[in-house]
Amino acid sequence: MTAARELIACQEGIVLRVFRPRGSAEDQIRPTEIVMSAIKRIAVLTSGGDAPGMNAAIRAVARCALAQGWDVLGVRHGYAGLIADEVESLTGRSVSNIVQRGGTMLGSARCPEFEAEVTRRQALRGLEQNHVDGLVVIGGNGSQTGALALAEMGLPVVGVASTIDNDLAGSEITIGVDTALNIALEAIDRLKTTASSHQRAFLVEVMGRKCGYLALMAGLAGGAEIVVIPERETSPVEVATQLRAAYERGKRHALAVVAEGALYNAGKLDTWFREHSEDIGFDLRTTTLGHVQRGGTPTAFDRLLATRLGAGAVAALTRGEQGVLVGLNEGKVTTTPLAEVVGVPKAIDPELFRLASVLER
Ligand code: ADP
Repeated sequence: MTAARELIACQEGIVLRVFRPRGSAEDQIRPTEIVMSAIKRIAVLTSGGDAPGMNAAIRAVARCALAQGWDVLGVRHGYAGLIADEVESLTGRSVSNIVQRGGTMLGSARCPEFEAEVTRRQALRGLEQNHVDGLVVIGGNGSQTGALALAEMGLPVVGVASTIDNDLAGSEITIGVDTALNIALEAIDRLKTTASSHQRAFLVEVMGRKCGYLALMAGLAGGAEIVVIPERETSPVEVATQLRAAYERGKRHALAVVAEGALYNAGKLDTWFREHSEDIGFDLRTTTLGHVQRGGTPTAFDRLLATRLGAGAVAALTRGEQGVLVGLNEGKVTTTPLAEVVGVPKAIDPELFRLASVLER
């Protein structure tokens, strides 16, 4: 039901907007139906590594906030734009035709200066001058660390979980992961075809920083002989043994999926295999997918996830929640205090790792 808005209260110098459902009995305000928000204008930014689906999140934040009667400012280039006051007004039209696009229309950046309190104060002054009452930060672990630092300085901040690495606690899955995984799988499927023709072993390195989620899922869904992830140490000898065993079982190809953050990543394994090529007896080709995984059209899952989380961020601000991360847990949009999320390692499901070992036969 559309909310009817009414300005009815003035407390401690703050004008409170009271939202109540239209047509409620005798149009009376019942305490359970009232949500109060002092917000009139919010800003939204995307920060850190870009992720497919960020645009859908920006669109949802902007349109849900506009529907509340708030003004929306888009901040360009993440925290760098916050410091430099690179802001623009977002309207329903300015976020048109972006839901299907990868990357971020606002631009993103890495901004190490933001770790300094003096820089964050400068950003806060800029927000104050622009009459911004709340900020939505769409990004990963580093970006949410910045968001927490701002929240601790008194700014109402809500984070939206967005990183292809899925290394952010507080959301079982983050925006961009599904698209990145599908891109990795498409590459793996293609490599498998050529590997079968040449009876070759191949090694694919996927992103994920210190988190093995993408590698594990790509290995499971791509049919890998072995998955190498940061969470579990795997020696080059184990990798060689598994790949050789695949040939001995009559396979025409053998695949290892390696996480970029593993102790033995693709570069190190490749070097090791070259040094031991005579003992190994088979040819290994290495492919590092790298930034290819970030690009591309967001999948339906990522668009819907981003839309739900973006809308969840506005809902959280409407409820007066701040200093929280909006994520997806057990299929529901949830909020978790940023203080419980940033820097907290996200564990890999050991059952899935065991399953990958069983399927390696
Ligand atoms: P992601 O958000 O994808 O994990 P980064 O780790 O690169 O990406 O972080 C993005 C940005 O977040 C950094 O460039 C910096 O501006 C900000 N940031 C990271 N760590 C902190 C911190 N400890 N304090 C304040 N800001 C931070």
